[in-house]
Amino acid sequence: MTGNEARVQAIQQIVNRDAAPVSPPQSLEAIWAENVFNLTKMQASLPKAVFKSIKKTIVTGEKLDASVADAVATAMRDWAIAKGALYYAHVFYPMTNMTAEKHDGFISVQGDGKVISEFSGKVLVQGEPDGSSFPNGGLRDTFEARGYTGWDVTSPAYIMETDNGSTLCIPTVFVSWTGEALDKKVPLLRSIAAMDKAANKVLSLLGHTDIAHVNSSCGAEQEYFLVDTNFASQRPDLLLAGRTLFGKAPAKGQEFDDHYFGAIPERVQVFMQDVEENLYKLGIPAKTRHNEVAPGQFEIAPFFEAANVASDHQQLIMTVLRHTAKKHGFMCLLHEKPFAGINGSGKHVNWSVGNATQGNLLDPGDSPHDNAQFLVFCGAVIRGVHVYGPLMRAAIATASNDHRLGANEAPPAIMSVYLGTQLEEVFEQIKSGSVIESKQKGIMDLGVDVLPYLTKDAGDRNRTSPFAFTGNRFEFRAVGSSQSVAGPLIVLNTMLADSLAWIGDRLEAELGTGSDLNTAILTVLKEVMEKHGQVVFGGNGYSEEWHKMAVEERGLANLPTTADALPYLKADFIEALFDRTGVLTPVELESRFEVYAEQYILSIEVEAKLVVSMAKTTIYPAAVEYLSKLSSTIASLTGLGITLEQESAKAVADLTNSMVDAASKLSAALAKHDFASTEEHMHYCATTLRPAMDEVRNYADALEANVADRFWPLPTYQEMLFIK
Ligand code: ADP
Ligand code: MG
Repeated sequence: MTGNEARVQAIQQIVNRDAAPVSPPQSLEAIWAENVFNLTKMQASLPKAVFKSIKKTIVTGEKLDASVADAVATAMRDWAIAKGALYYAHVFYPMTNMTAEKHDGFISVQGDGKVISEFSGKVLVQGEPDGSSFPNGGLRDTFEARGYTGWDVTSPAYIMETDNGSTLCIPTVFVSWTGEALDKKVPLLRSIAAMDKAANKVLSLLGHTDIAHVNSSCGAEQEYFLVDTNFASQRPDLLLAGRTLFGKAPAKGQEFDDHYFGAIPERVQVFMQDVEENLYKLGIPAKTRHNEVAPGQFEIAPFFEAANVASDHQQLIMTVLRHTAKKHGFMCLLHEKPFAGINGSGKHVNWSVGNATQGNLLDPGDSPHDNAQFLVFCGAVIRGVHVYGPLMRAAIATASNDHRLGANEAPPAIMSVYLGTQLEEVFEQIKSGSVIESKQKGIMDLGVDVLPYLTKDAGDRNRTSPFAFTGNRFEFRAVGSSQSVAGPLIVLNTMLADSLAWIGDRLEAELGTGSDLNTAILTVLKEVMEKHGQVVFGGNGYSEEWHKMAVEERGLANLPTTADALPYLKADFIEALFDRTGVLTPVELESRFEVYAEQYILSIEVEAKLVVSMAKTTIYPAAVEYLSKLSSTIASLTGLGITLEQESAKAVADLTNSMVDAASKLSAALAKHDFASTEEHMHYCATTLRPAMDEVRNYADALEANVADRFWPLPTYQEMLFIK
């Protein structure tokens, strides 16, 4: 096919497409968690004592007894086989944002040539994937060992149904034989333990005696784009890089604001229902769905869950979105910036901490005592963001998220906290000491009732803040749509653990000098605000003034690119944080820097190569074909004594030459390989390759505006965004 024939054909196919069959709606109760081996199913199939033991392990994270593991494995196998599974898989979460699986059959060949289905506690609890092909940032070279996977008992096993059959999936941790974490789950579990320990101490200083395990919670809102596969398959950039590397802005973009919360297109709604049905079967509480700001962009948000389970479920949501989209003739784009000039996609990580005895610790609560407790935890968060802001930035640093951050649609690359007007005022009062003066007498039962009564008001929102308090949780809004939420959650839990430990020590010291609890809390919170209050910001995070003020007056870091942010993983104070809290050893942390830096470099280099090849092999030929047609027309008209303007042809010729020059420049830039350090290599990608790619694109997009449509081979923004 030549010229735009493939594009035209794609449009015809989409327009004439039969609607996907809608399966009859099933009741939520009937399908909920039907593919999950959860507590209910364990209780039904396990002897009482075994069930009690596994339940205890799930709640407390205690070690699983070998005999219990055997009994659970047998029950799990029988359940899975009854549901048609022939294979089981240890699912793990390597340092990429992907989910990895190692599949094994239940099959066991017996001496007499017969086979039986076998699945013991040992294989349930431990697997041995050939880990050498997963990024390990040098860890494995050091220890020359394979990786091991081990069931994370706190995350239930489930059946993944695909057209090729069903597989029993077991969520696992992935470690080297010496116990180094090779994944994102191990540090997440450790960060929760560290936070639990520090929170426990603070709660007991606040006077509690009955304190349950403190866990962190996460509800992640996932934004994504849908593009018809007929278009996507004609865009090598979408297929290989997940984003368009070329494409002129459509005549109509998002300026009418008519997509957000608008009616969901029918075809998309059928897709969403299919996704939700799959998620319900997997016990994932999908709750919200709507259109997003950009045309072709949508959002799905589940109800929040314990961070560890939420993180596994988030990975599953991304998998289910991708797979289901394919079935419906869509490509689901999870990239942070699939289309230039159109809003990108984020993943808002709603995060809180709490337990069964004290409830949500970031909820202001109804009594003054609850409020004091809330302010202590909130103060800990403020300190955490101030001290470890650059680490938060590093946790969301990817080549793709860099396109979003700092643009006028997404939070800036400066970490600050938004508290809302009322709460900000309270903390300002604490800082100035005026709360103590406004002390009322008479209702002193717990000694901490002087703090102001807070109403729960999630009403005022600030979309420009990277990290906002939203009534009973914080919302980390700068996380990228394609990211695993584990990384951000690890950082939030760890910095909170550190802050709570600091606050615990300070409270203890104040109480030791004879202060009452009331005064001690206010003294410590005042200190928090004096040292860290400059990280609180309620204004417009997109504005020029903020960028200037944040850096110059408040001393906050502005880290616009991954190349600026990732090296913080090697900073002494970050290494000390992870070491002290037991979340990552220095070696494990170093390996993460290596892996993430390599991913950053690789993804930019792959894109750069693709820019060169698309410019030379797709766009150049189209421009030349058009020019040849145009020039022969001009020539033959001249023969007839008719003059046609020549400016159009000249413009196309100039743009074509400029584009080829820019592509050659980029090619040459790509050839450089001698870098003194990984950091230098990253900066080269950010400051040399990226701008060189943009230059090629600018000429190519101008060509798209000047070459006759019937010669243009790449599906356009207009088509991809608006034709469903
Ligand atoms: P919005 O778009 O207004 O931010 P959504 O309803 O789309 O709100 O998403 C809010 C998310 O926050 C949901 O996933 C919700 O379950 C989650 N959430 C609510 N309370 C908590 C909490 N205590 N901890 C973590 N997440 C929470
Ligand atoms: Mg939100």
